[in-house]
Amino acid sequence: MIVFKKITKLLVSALIVTSTSFVYAADKVNTLDKPNLIIILTDDQGYADVGFNGSTEIFTPNIDKIAKEGVRFTQGYVSYPVCGPSRAGLLTGRYQDRFGFVGNPTIDPSVDNAGIPKTEKNIAEVLKPAGYTSGILGKWHMGTHPSLHPDKRGFDHFYGFLSGGHKYFPEDLVINDLSEVTKKWQWYSTRLLRNDIRVDTTEYLTDELSNEAVEFIKREKDNPFFLYVAYNAPHAPLQATQKYLDRYPHIKNKRRKTYAAMISAVDDGVGQILSTLKEQGIDDNTIVFFLSDNGGPLSKNASNNGELRGGKGDPFEGGVRVPFAVRWPGKIPAGIDYNHSVSSLDILATIVDEAKVDVTSNKPLDGVNLIPYLTGENEGQPHDVLFWRSFSTNWSASLTANSKMIKKGGEAMLFDLDKDIAEQKNMYKQSKDQYKNQRAQYEQWNDELQDPAFPRLGSWDFTKQNKTKTKKTK
Ligand code: CA
Repeated sequence: MIVFKKITKLLVSALIVTSTSFVYAADKVNTLDKPNLIIILTDDQGYADVGFNGSTEIFTPNIDKIAKEGVRFTQGYVSYPVCGPSRAGLLTGRYQDRFGFVGNPTIDPSVDNAGIPKTEKNIAEVLKPAGYTSGILGKWHMGTHPSLHPDKRGFDHFYGFLSGGHKYFPEDLVINDLSEVTKKWQWYSTRLLRNDIRVDTTEYLTDELSNEAVEFIKREKDNPFFLYVAYNAPHAPLQATQKYLDRYPHIKNKRRKTYAAMISAVDDGVGQILSTLKEQGIDDNTIVFFLSDNGGPLSKNASNNGELRGGKGDPFEGGVRVPFAVRWPGKIPAGIDYNHSVSSLDILATIVDEAKVDVTSNKPLDGVNLIPYLTGENEGQPHDVLFWRSFSTNWSASLTANSKMIKKGGEAMLFDLDKDIAEQKNMYKQSKDQYKNQRAQYEQWNDELQDPAFPRLGSWDFTKQNKTKTKKTK
Protein backbone atom coordinates (compact mmCIF):
# COMPACT_ATOMS: atom_id res chain seq x y z
CA MET A 1 0.00 0.00 0.00
CA ILE A 2 2.80 2.36 0.89
CA VAL A 3 4.47 1.57 -2.42
CA PHE A 4 1.19 2.21 -4.25
CA LYS A 5 0.79 5.61 -2.58
CA LYS A 6 4.36 6.43 -3.43
CA ILE A 7 3.77 5.48 -7.08
CA THR A 8 0.61 7.62 -7.25
CA LYS A 9 2.46 10.59 -5.78
CA LEU A 10 5.32 10.09 -8.18
CA LEU A 11 2.98 9.77 -11.12
CA VAL A 12 1.43 13.13 -10.33
CA SER A 13 4.84 14.77 -10.25
CA ALA A 14 5.81 12.75 -13.32
CA LEU A 15 2.88 14.20 -15.25
CA ILE A 16 3.98 17.71 -14.36
CA VAL A 17 7.55 17.00 -15.42
CA THR A 18 6.37 15.34 -18.63
CA SER A 19 4.19 18.22 -19.70
CA THR A 20 6.98 20.78 -19.27
CA SER A 21 9.52 18.59 -21.00
CA PHE A 22 7.13 18.07 -23.88
CA VAL A 23 7.06 21.80 -24.49
CA TYR A 24 10.83 21.82 -24.34
CA ALA A 25 11.20 18.88 -26.69
CA ALA A 26 8.46 19.88 -29.12
CA ASP A 27 10.75 21.74 -31.49
CA LYS A 28 13.31 18.95 -31.64
CA VAL A 29 13.34 15.89 -33.85
CA ASN A 30 14.45 13.87 -30.84
CA THR A 31 11.12 13.72 -29.05
CA LEU A 32 9.32 11.70 -26.47
CA ASP A 33 7.57 9.81 -29.27
CA LYS A 34 10.84 8.13 -30.08
CA PRO A 35 12.76 7.81 -26.83
CA ASN A 36 16.46 7.12 -26.96
CA LEU A 37 17.63 3.85 -25.48
CA ILE A 38 20.88 3.31 -23.63
CA ILE A 39 21.78 -0.13 -22.34
CA ILE A 40 24.73 -0.19 -19.97
CA LEU A 41 25.78 -3.80 -19.68
CA THR A 42 28.52 -4.95 -17.33
CA ASP A 43 30.23 -8.32 -17.64
CA ASP A 44 30.27 -10.87 -14.82
CA GLN A 45 29.28 -8.40 -12.11
CA GLY A 46 27.90 -10.03 -8.94
CA TYR A 47 24.35 -9.40 -7.75
CA ALA A 48 25.59 -7.90 -4.48
CA ASP A 49 28.36 -5.79 -6.03
CA VAL A 50 26.40 -2.62 -6.55
CA GLY A 51 25.28 -0.05 -3.99
CA PHE A 52 21.62 -0.38 -4.92
CA ASN A 53 21.72 -4.05 -3.93
CA GLY A 54 23.31 -3.24 -0.61
CA SER A 55 27.05 -3.21 -1.22
CA THR A 56 28.86 -0.98 1.26
CA GLU A 57 32.26 -2.28 0.20
CA ILE A 58 32.17 -1.24 -3.47
CA PHE A 59 31.13 2.33 -4.25
CA THR A 60 28.72 2.84 -7.15
CA PRO A 61 27.10 6.26 -6.56
CA ASN A 62 26.39 6.83 -10.26
CA ILE A 63 25.02 3.37 -11.03
CA ASP A 64 22.88 3.80 -7.91
CA LYS A 65 21.43 7.00 -9.41
CA ILE A 66 19.77 4.88 -12.11
CA ALA A 67 17.88 2.98 -9.39
CA LYS A 68 17.36 6.05 -7.18
CA GLU A 69 15.99 8.16 -10.02
CA GLY A 70 14.24 5.17 -11.57
CA VAL A 71 13.34 1.62 -10.67
CA ARG A 72 15.39 -1.15 -9.11
CA PHE A 73 14.41 -4.64 -10.20
CA THR A 74 14.91 -6.95 -7.25
CA GLN A 75 14.24 -9.97 -9.45
CA GLY A 76 15.82 -9.04 -12.76
CA TYR A 77 16.98 -12.02 -14.81
CA VAL A 78 19.09 -12.69 -17.87
CA SER A 79 18.17 -15.50 -20.26
CA TYR A 80 21.41 -17.43 -19.74
CA PRO A 81 24.13 -17.40 -17.06
CA VAL A 82 27.04 -16.95 -19.52
CA CYS A 83 28.06 -14.00 -21.73
CA GLY A 84 27.31 -15.01 -25.33
CA PRO A 85 23.83 -16.55 -25.10
CA SER A 86 22.77 -13.94 -22.55
CA ARG A 87 23.69 -11.15 -24.99
CA ALA A 88 21.98 -12.90 -27.90
CA GLY A 89 18.78 -13.01 -25.84
CA LEU A 90 19.08 -9.40 -24.73
CA LEU A 91 19.73 -8.12 -28.25
CA THR A 92 16.94 -10.07 -29.98
CA GLY A 93 14.33 -10.05 -27.21
CA ARG A 94 13.91 -13.77 -27.84
CA TYR A 95 15.14 -16.85 -26.03
CA GLN A 96 18.44 -17.46 -27.81
CA ASP A 97 17.92 -21.25 -27.89
CA ARG A 98 15.08 -20.59 -30.35
CA PHE A 99 17.82 -19.96 -32.92
CA GLY A 100 20.46 -22.38 -31.70
CA PHE A 101 22.61 -19.82 -29.86
CA VAL A 102 23.28 -22.24 -27.02
CA GLY A 103 26.86 -21.33 -26.07
CA ASN A 104 29.65 -18.82 -26.58
CA PRO A 105 30.45 -18.76 -30.30
CA THR A 106 33.89 -19.67 -31.59
CA ILE A 107 35.98 -16.60 -32.35
CA ASP A 108 37.27 -18.23 -35.53
CA PRO A 109 36.64 -15.49 -38.12
CA SER A 110 36.19 -18.02 -40.93
CA VAL A 111 32.95 -19.41 -39.47
CA ASP A 112 30.12 -17.45 -41.01
CA ASN A 113 27.28 -18.69 -38.83
CA ALA A 114 28.80 -18.38 -35.34
CA GLY A 115 26.61 -15.52 -34.17
CA ILE A 116 23.02 -14.30 -34.35
CA PRO A 117 21.53 -15.78 -37.55
CA LYS A 118 20.29 -13.37 -40.22
CA THR A 119 16.78 -14.73 -39.70
CA GLU A 120 16.71 -12.91 -36.35
CA LYS A 121 16.64 -9.16 -35.79
CA ASN A 122 18.54 -7.43 -33.02
CA ILE A 123 17.54 -4.12 -31.38
CA ALA A 124 19.59 -2.03 -33.82
CA GLU A 125 18.04 -3.77 -36.82
CA VAL A 126 14.53 -3.40 -35.42
CA LEU A 127 14.96 0.30 -34.68
CA LYS A 128 16.72 1.28 -37.91
CA PRO A 129 13.55 1.58 -40.06
CA ALA A 130 12.10 3.85 -37.35
CA GLY A 131 14.95 6.33 -37.92
CA TYR A 132 17.21 5.36 -35.05
CA THR A 133 20.99 5.59 -35.16
CA SER A 134 22.67 2.79 -33.21
CA GLY A 135 26.08 2.47 -31.62
CA ILE A 136 27.85 -0.33 -29.79
CA LEU A 137 30.85 0.30 -27.58
CA GLY A 138 32.96 -2.50 -26.14
CA LYS A 139 32.24 -6.21 -26.34
CA TRP A 140 30.36 -7.58 -29.35
CA HIS A 141 30.74 -11.37 -28.99
CA MET A 142 27.98 -11.97 -31.57
CA GLY A 143 30.24 -13.25 -34.34
CA THR A 144 33.69 -12.50 -35.73
CA HIS A 145 33.08 -13.41 -39.39
CA PRO A 146 32.96 -10.17 -41.45
CA SER A 147 29.31 -10.79 -42.33
CA LEU A 148 28.42 -10.85 -38.63
CA HIS A 149 30.21 -7.66 -37.55
CA PRO A 150 28.11 -4.94 -35.88
CA ASP A 151 28.08 -2.79 -39.04
CA LYS A 152 26.41 -5.67 -40.90
CA ARG A 153 23.92 -6.11 -38.09
CA GLY A 154 22.25 -2.70 -37.93
CA PHE A 155 24.83 -0.74 -35.95
CA ASP A 156 26.03 2.55 -37.44
CA HIS A 157 28.94 2.92 -35.05
CA PHE A 158 31.17 0.32 -33.45
CA TYR A 159 34.10 0.98 -31.18
CA GLY A 160 35.35 -2.09 -29.40
CA PHE A 161 36.32 -5.69 -29.95
CA LEU A 162 34.67 -8.77 -31.43
CA SER A 163 35.56 -11.51 -28.97
CA GLY A 164 34.31 -12.33 -25.48
CA GLY A 165 36.89 -10.59 -23.31
CA HIS A 166 39.73 -8.11 -23.48
CA LYS A 167 42.77 -6.72 -21.77
CA TYR A 168 42.46 -3.20 -20.43
CA PHE A 169 45.78 -1.40 -20.84
CA PRO A 170 46.71 0.19 -24.20
CA GLU A 171 50.23 -1.28 -24.20
CA ASP A 172 48.76 -4.82 -24.14
CA LEU A 173 46.67 -4.36 -27.28
CA VAL A 174 49.19 -5.40 -29.91
CA ILE A 175 47.57 -8.07 -32.11
CA ASN A 176 46.44 -6.65 -35.43
CA ASP A 177 43.77 -9.15 -36.27
CA LEU A 178 42.13 -12.38 -35.09
CA SER A 179 43.81 -14.12 -38.03
CA GLU A 180 47.16 -13.48 -36.28
CA VAL A 181 46.14 -15.19 -33.06
CA THR A 182 48.26 -18.29 -32.45
CA LYS A 183 47.65 -18.92 -28.75
CA LYS A 184 44.59 -19.35 -26.60
CA TRP A 185 43.37 -16.06 -25.07
CA GLN A 186 45.63 -14.03 -27.35
CA TRP A 187 42.40 -12.60 -28.78
CA TYR A 188 42.20 -10.58 -25.57
CA SER A 189 45.05 -8.49 -26.95
CA THR A 190 43.72 -7.34 -30.31
CA ARG A 191 43.83 -3.65 -31.16
CA LEU A 192 40.38 -2.08 -30.98
CA LEU A 193 38.15 -1.71 -34.00
CA ARG A 194 36.46 1.51 -35.01
CA ASN A 195 33.92 0.01 -37.38
CA ASP A 196 36.27 -2.13 -39.50
CA ILE A 197 39.47 -0.17 -38.95
CA ARG A 198 42.04 -1.17 -36.31
CA VAL A 199 42.98 1.73 -34.03
CA ASP A 200 45.26 2.34 -31.06
CA THR A 201 43.97 3.38 -27.67
CA THR A 202 45.55 5.77 -25.22
CA GLU A 203 43.57 5.10 -22.07
CA TYR A 204 42.46 2.34 -19.75
CA LEU A 205 39.80 0.48 -21.77
CA THR A 206 36.81 1.24 -19.53
CA ASP A 207 37.62 4.97 -19.59
CA GLU A 208 38.11 4.80 -23.33
CA LEU A 209 34.61 3.30 -23.80
CA SER A 210 33.03 5.87 -21.45
CA ASN A 211 34.57 8.75 -23.38
CA GLU A 212 33.23 7.27 -26.60
CA ALA A 213 29.76 7.04 -25.05
CA VAL A 214 29.86 10.76 -24.26
CA GLU A 215 30.96 11.61 -27.80
CA PHE A 216 28.24 9.40 -29.29
CA ILE A 217 25.49 11.06 -27.22
CA LYS A 218 26.69 14.56 -28.09
CA ARG A 219 26.86 13.68 -31.77
CA GLU A 220 23.48 11.95 -31.99
CA LYS A 221 21.50 14.07 -29.54
CA ASP A 222 19.15 15.54 -32.17
CA ASN A 223 17.91 12.22 -33.51
CA PRO A 224 16.59 9.10 -31.83
CA PHE A 225 19.40 6.75 -30.92
CA PHE A 226 20.19 3.39 -29.37
CA LEU A 227 23.49 3.19 -27.54
CA TYR A 228 24.70 -0.19 -26.32
CA VAL A 229 27.54 0.35 -23.85
CA ALA A 230 28.87 -3.18 -23.48
CA TYR A 231 31.64 -2.77 -20.91
CA ASN A 232 33.80 -5.89 -20.55
CA ALA A 233 34.51 -4.86 -16.94
CA PRO A 234 34.62 -6.44 -14.44
CA HIS A 235 35.30 -9.60 -16.49
CA ALA A 236 38.80 -11.07 -16.06
CA PRO A 237 41.66 -10.28 -16.48
CA LEU A 238 41.60 -8.25 -13.28
CA GLN A 239 43.29 -5.01 -14.27
CA ALA A 240 42.72 -1.52 -12.91
CA THR A 241 44.47 1.83 -12.76
CA GLN A 242 45.80 3.41 -9.57
CA LYS A 243 43.14 6.12 -9.73
CA TYR A 244 40.44 3.55 -9.03
CA LEU A 245 42.50 1.26 -6.78
CA ASP A 246 43.08 4.23 -4.47
CA ARG A 247 39.37 4.29 -3.64
CA TYR A 248 39.64 0.94 -1.86
CA PRO A 249 42.18 1.13 0.99
CA HIS A 250 39.68 -0.86 3.09
CA ILE A 251 39.83 -3.92 0.81
CA LYS A 252 42.89 -5.97 1.66
CA ASN A 253 42.38 -8.85 -0.79
CA LYS A 254 44.24 -7.76 -3.90
CA ARG A 255 41.92 -9.44 -6.40
CA ARG A 256 38.77 -8.15 -4.74
CA LYS A 257 40.32 -4.69 -4.56
CA THR A 258 41.11 -4.74 -8.30
CA TYR A 259 37.61 -6.01 -9.11
CA ALA A 260 36.12 -3.18 -7.02
CA ALA A 261 38.34 -0.66 -8.82
CA MET A 262 37.15 -1.99 -12.20
CA ILE A 263 33.55 -1.40 -11.14
CA SER A 264 34.47 2.11 -10.04
CA ALA A 265 35.73 2.81 -13.55
CA VAL A 266 32.37 1.70 -14.94
CA ASP A 267 30.63 3.81 -12.30
CA ASP A 268 32.54 6.93 -13.33
CA GLY A 269 31.51 6.18 -16.92
CA VAL A 270 27.86 5.90 -15.91
CA GLY A 271 28.24 9.28 -14.21
CA GLN A 272 29.63 10.78 -17.43
CA ILE A 273 26.77 9.28 -19.46
CA LEU A 274 24.06 10.57 -17.11
CA SER A 275 25.50 14.08 -16.88
CA THR A 276 25.90 14.25 -20.68
CA LEU A 277 22.21 13.41 -21.10
CA LYS A 278 21.35 16.28 -18.74
CA GLU A 279 23.73 18.74 -20.42
CA GLN A 280 22.33 17.90 -23.84
CA GLY A 281 18.73 18.33 -22.65
CA ILE A 282 17.71 14.78 -23.56
CA ASP A 283 17.54 13.36 -20.07
CA ASP A 284 13.78 12.84 -20.02
CA ASN A 285 13.48 11.21 -23.41
CA THR A 286 16.20 8.67 -22.80
CA ILE A 287 15.54 5.27 -21.23
CA VAL A 288 18.64 3.99 -19.47
CA PHE A 289 18.87 0.33 -18.49
CA PHE A 290 21.69 -0.99 -16.34
CA LEU A 291 22.36 -4.71 -15.87
CA SER A 292 25.03 -7.38 -15.77
CA ASP A 293 25.11 -10.09 -18.46
CA ASN A 294 25.24 -12.92 -15.89
CA GLY A 295 25.90 -13.48 -12.21
CA GLY A 296 29.35 -13.15 -10.69
CA PRO A 297 31.72 -16.11 -11.31
CA LEU A 298 32.88 -15.70 -7.67
CA SER A 299 36.46 -17.02 -7.43
CA LYS A 300 37.26 -16.17 -11.07
CA ASN A 301 36.95 -12.40 -10.60
CA ALA A 302 36.40 -12.09 -6.83
CA SER A 303 32.73 -11.13 -7.31
CA ASN A 304 29.96 -11.53 -4.73
CA ASN A 305 26.38 -12.64 -5.35
CA GLY A 306 25.36 -12.11 -1.72
CA GLU A 307 22.98 -14.73 -0.40
CA LEU A 308 22.16 -16.09 -3.85
CA ARG A 309 23.27 -19.65 -4.56
CA GLY A 310 25.93 -20.33 -7.18
CA GLY A 311 27.27 -18.04 -9.86
CA LYS A 312 28.05 -17.69 -13.55
CA GLY A 313 27.10 -20.83 -15.47
CA ASP A 314 24.59 -22.05 -12.85
CA PRO A 315 20.81 -22.36 -13.10
CA PHE A 316 20.63 -21.08 -9.51
CA GLU A 317 19.80 -17.47 -8.71
CA GLY A 318 23.48 -16.53 -8.48
CA GLY A 319 23.84 -17.37 -12.17
CA VAL A 320 20.80 -15.68 -13.66
CA ARG A 321 19.57 -12.98 -11.24
CA VAL A 322 21.60 -9.84 -11.86
CA PRO A 323 21.87 -6.22 -10.73
CA PHE A 324 19.21 -4.57 -12.90
CA ALA A 325 17.69 -1.06 -12.91
CA VAL A 326 16.04 1.38 -15.31
CA ARG A 327 15.64 5.13 -15.37
CA TRP A 328 13.34 7.30 -17.46
CA PRO A 329 12.76 10.63 -15.70
CA GLY A 330 9.17 11.85 -15.76
CA LYS A 331 7.85 8.67 -17.34
CA ILE A 332 8.41 6.05 -14.66
CA PRO A 333 8.47 6.48 -10.87
CA ALA A 334 11.70 7.35 -9.15
CA GLY A 335 13.23 5.40 -6.31
CA ILE A 336 10.96 2.38 -6.16
CA ASP A 337 11.60 -1.34 -6.13
CA TYR A 338 9.80 -3.51 -8.63
CA ASN A 339 9.54 -7.01 -7.21
CA HIS A 340 7.91 -9.12 -9.91
CA SER A 341 10.27 -11.03 -12.17
CA VAL A 342 11.53 -9.19 -15.23
CA SER A 343 13.93 -10.31 -17.92
CA SER A 344 16.64 -8.85 -20.13
CA LEU A 345 14.35 -10.09 -22.96
CA ASP A 346 11.97 -7.25 -22.00
CA ILE A 347 14.29 -4.44 -23.12
CA LEU A 348 13.65 -4.82 -26.85
CA ALA A 349 9.90 -5.21 -26.28
CA THR A 350 9.92 -2.05 -24.15
CA ILE A 351 11.64 0.17 -26.70
CA VAL A 352 9.65 -1.02 -29.72
CA ASP A 353 6.40 -0.44 -27.87
CA GLU A 354 7.39 2.98 -26.54
CA ALA A 355 8.76 4.06 -29.94
CA LYS A 356 5.69 2.60 -31.66
CA VAL A 357 7.76 0.44 -33.98
CA ASP A 358 5.68 -2.14 -35.80
CA VAL A 359 7.18 -5.57 -35.18
CA THR A 360 4.14 -7.64 -36.10
CA SER A 361 5.91 -9.08 -39.14
CA ASN A 362 8.90 -10.12 -36.99
CA LYS A 363 9.20 -13.35 -35.09
CA PRO A 364 7.25 -13.32 -31.82
CA LEU A 365 9.07 -11.66 -28.93
CA ASP A 366 9.52 -13.36 -25.58
CA GLY A 367 9.74 -10.07 -23.69
CA VAL A 368 7.09 -7.51 -22.78
CA ASN A 369 6.99 -3.72 -22.47
CA LEU A 370 7.83 -3.04 -18.83
CA ILE A 371 6.74 0.60 -18.71
CA PRO A 372 3.00 0.02 -17.97
CA TYR A 373 4.01 -2.28 -15.11
CA LEU A 374 6.33 0.33 -13.67
CA THR A 375 3.80 3.16 -13.87
CA GLY A 376 1.17 0.98 -12.20
CA GLU A 377 -1.06 1.10 -15.28
CA ASN A 378 -0.76 -2.67 -15.44
CA GLU A 379 -1.04 -4.30 -12.03
CA GLY A 380 -0.31 -7.84 -13.18
CA GLN A 381 3.08 -9.41 -13.52
CA PRO A 382 5.11 -9.25 -16.74
CA HIS A 383 5.83 -12.99 -16.91
CA ASP A 384 3.80 -16.02 -15.89
CA VAL A 385 6.90 -18.10 -16.42
CA LEU A 386 10.59 -17.74 -17.31
CA PHE A 387 12.72 -20.57 -18.70
CA TRP A 388 16.40 -21.42 -18.89
CA ARG A 389 18.17 -24.22 -20.72
CA SER A 390 21.81 -25.24 -20.87
CA PHE A 391 22.17 -27.58 -23.81
CA SER A 392 25.86 -28.38 -23.29
CA THR A 393 25.76 -29.09 -19.55
CA ASN A 394 22.25 -30.52 -19.66
CA TRP A 395 20.36 -28.60 -17.03
CA SER A 396 17.03 -26.86 -17.24
CA ALA A 397 15.04 -24.47 -15.07
CA SER A 398 11.82 -22.52 -14.89
CA LEU A 399 10.31 -19.93 -12.59
CA THR A 400 6.61 -19.46 -12.09
CA ALA A 401 5.02 -17.56 -9.20
CA ASN A 402 8.39 -17.75 -7.47
CA SER A 403 8.47 -21.52 -7.63
CA LYS A 404 11.81 -22.45 -9.18
CA MET A 405 12.14 -25.80 -10.89
CA ILE A 406 15.63 -27.09 -11.70
CA LYS A 407 16.79 -30.34 -13.19
CA LYS A 408 20.52 -30.72 -13.08
CA GLY A 409 22.65 -33.84 -13.39
CA GLY A 410 19.47 -35.92 -13.10
CA GLU A 411 18.55 -34.28 -9.78
CA ALA A 412 15.08 -32.78 -9.48
CA MET A 413 14.85 -29.58 -7.46
CA LEU A 414 12.08 -27.21 -6.49
CA PHE A 415 12.60 -24.05 -4.45
CA ASP A 416 10.16 -21.54 -3.05
CA LEU A 417 12.00 -18.29 -3.69
CA ASP A 418 9.59 -16.29 -1.52
CA LYS A 419 10.76 -18.20 1.54
CA ASP A 420 14.10 -19.51 0.35
CA ILE A 421 15.93 -17.03 -1.85
CA ALA A 422 19.18 -18.94 -1.23
CA GLU A 423 17.73 -22.15 -2.75
CA GLN A 424 18.77 -24.28 0.20
CA LYS A 425 15.62 -26.27 0.85
CA ASN A 426 14.71 -28.65 -1.97
CA MET A 427 10.90 -29.04 -1.84
CA TYR A 428 10.74 -31.62 -4.61
CA LYS A 429 9.62 -34.51 -2.40
CA GLN A 430 6.88 -32.43 -0.76
CA SER A 431 5.69 -30.82 -4.01
CA LYS A 432 5.97 -33.43 -6.72
CA ASP A 433 2.81 -32.24 -8.51
CA GLN A 434 4.11 -28.69 -8.75
CA TYR A 435 7.41 -30.01 -10.10
CA LYS A 436 5.57 -32.17 -12.61
CA ASN A 437 3.49 -29.23 -13.84
CA GLN A 438 6.52 -27.01 -14.27
CA ARG A 439 8.36 -29.83 -15.97
CA ALA A 440 5.52 -30.32 -18.47
CA GLN A 441 5.42 -26.57 -19.16
CA TYR A 442 9.18 -26.61 -19.68
CA GLU A 443 9.03 -29.57 -22.08
CA GLN A 444 6.49 -27.72 -24.18
CA TRP A 445 8.83 -24.72 -24.41
CA ASN A 446 11.82 -26.99 -25.05
CA ASP A 447 10.06 -28.44 -28.11
CA GLU A 448 10.22 -24.99 -29.71
CA LEU A 449 14.02 -24.76 -29.38
CA GLN A 450 16.85 -25.57 -31.73
CA ASP A 451 19.99 -27.61 -31.26
CA PRO A 452 23.38 -25.84 -31.40
CA ALA A 453 23.65 -23.90 -34.66
CA PHE A 454 27.41 -23.28 -34.70
CA PRO A 455 30.76 -24.39 -33.20
CA ARG A 456 31.36 -22.98 -29.75
CA LEU A 457 34.35 -21.30 -28.19
CA GLY A 458 36.94 -23.95 -27.48
CA SER A 459 35.21 -26.59 -29.58
CA TRP A 460 37.51 -25.98 -32.52
CA ASP A 461 41.01 -24.68 -31.95
CA PHE A 462 41.53 -22.44 -34.92
CA THR A 463 44.67 -21.00 -33.35
CA LYS A 464 46.47 -24.21 -34.32
CA GLN A 465 45.59 -23.59 -37.93
CA ASN A 466 46.90 -20.05 -37.69
CA LYS A 467 50.11 -21.37 -36.13
CA THR A 468 50.60 -23.78 -39.04
CA LYS A 469 49.88 -21.00 -41.52
CA THR A 470 52.34 -18.69 -39.74
CA LYS A 471 55.07 -21.39 -39.78
CA LYS A 472 54.50 -22.11 -43.46
CA THR A 473 54.82 -18.48 -44.45
CA LYS A 474 58.06 -18.03 -42.49
CA1 CA B 1 29.63 -12.35 -18.72
